[in-house]
Amino acid sequence: MTTVTVPFFISHQGCPHACVFCDQRVISGSCGSLPDRQQIGAAIGSWRRSASGRPLEVAFFGGSFTALPERVQDELLASVRPFLEEGVVRSVRISTRPDCLDGAVVRRLAGQGVAVVEIGVQSMDDDVLALSGRGHGAAASVAALRCIKEEGLVAGAQLMPGLPGDSTTSALGSLERVIVAGADFVRLYPVVVLEGTPLAQSYRAGDYRPLDLEQGIALCKQLLHRALRSGIDVIRIGLQAGDGLNDATVVAGCWHPALGQLVRSELYFDLVRQIASALPGDAPFGITCHPSRLSDVVGQKRRNLTRLRPPGVPIRLDPDNSLSVEEVAVEYLGQCFRGNIVTDLNYNISEV
Ligand code: SF4
Repeated sequence: MTTVTVPFFISHQGCPHACVFCDQRVISGSCGSLPDRQQIGAAIGSWRRSASGRPLEVAFFGGSFTALPERVQDELLASVRPFLEEGVVRSVRISTRPDCLDGAVVRRLAGQGVAVVEIGVQSMDDDVLALSGRGHGAAASVAALRCIKEEGLVAGAQLMPGLPGDSTTSALGSLERVIVAGADFVRLYPVVVLEGTPLAQSYRAGDYRPLDLEQGIALCKQLLHRALRSGIDVIRIGLQAGDGLNDATVVAGCWHPALGQLVRSELYFDLVRQIASALPGDAPFGITCHPSRLSDVVGQKRRNLTRLRPPGVPIRLDPDNSLSVEEVAVEYLGQCFRGNIVTDLNYNISEV
């Protein structure tokens, strides 16, 4: 049964300084003040009523939780505790900086019901981290991920491809290194340049060029493919389309409200194109896939189908429960060619 997240955005709380790309108030649409016991209880009650019996997970996002004064961390977690003990809340998730975490901190969190710790890794390239004003190096992320795993908690890593100084090779290397360090899942947030940030100034001065949407998709599909091959979950691609993200706040970069679907859809397009490349160029054919992947195979605004065959050449599309979610089958003149986006696609590293 899927878990329902009860989010509390504590924008920038605890952060020792602002990283050049970050404005959590815009990203989350929240002013970021810390919730008190009453507000936490009310929010959990409200989500419980709409969750239709599904388990709840409380999440403190958008700041550096473990850099808050310990007393404040304890108060926040104590407010959730009764709901954990009652079984209303199944787990607690926090996000924080990698340099604000060690074994003792993770043990304290675990003792208070925290089950998942996400860290803002952003990159595993020290030059990229320095240019982004992070104030820590890649070694801090390796140490933090290891600590989280050693204490038996679930470890998440947030990565931001496209930061100043980053490249496709560097972004793929960052993913490899967080996997080796023990991350259980990742979130991919290709850079969005937000109004009012130092990064927006660099962009306007011509000192920084972010990935645009097409470049971000091309890079994220390679990252997603690597993650799938490694068996690691990618639980989010792209910033959530919140109230704070709009034409006034997004200056440039890779942003689309359904970026994750665009990226996943590219894997299916590449696989079908690879299989269909053996067929005559104007031949109609059929595609079958798992029912849950129909929209990924078709692509937004039927983009995949229109790229696969010229106008007027029909492509038949059918759902097939017997296929796994990663598989597609291309049918042509009674023959069936199957493929799998994880095992049958090969991407040579190509800079975007
Ligand atoms: S990226 Fe993380 S550490 Fe940096 S300012 Fe934003 S919330 Fe704080």
